[in-house]
Amino acid sequence: MPRCLSYIRVGISAEGWARCARRAAEGSRFCRFHEDAVNGVVLGLWVNGFPERSTARTGPGTKDKQAPQRQTAESPANLDSA
Ligand SMILES: [Zn+2]
Repeated sequence: MPRCLSYIRVGISAEGWARCARRAAEGSRFCRFHEDAVNGVVLGLWVNGFPERSTARTGPGTKDKQAPQRQTAESPANLDSA
């Protein structure tokens, strides 16, 4: 059985990650814990839509610039209005 594809936090550093040591569940690429986590995140995004990307940046020359916001027909955010 292959190893889980996910990473877990290590230590207190925000950049400390290590590969999950659990075995992938049968028929999955993730251990049961991470499979539930991934499914929960995807379900939440699907039901609630993807949050708008923040384009606010600070610094010289970026005061009034905003990146264009686009939504495609495939975006889950559009499902509620269909
Ligand atoms: Zn895992």
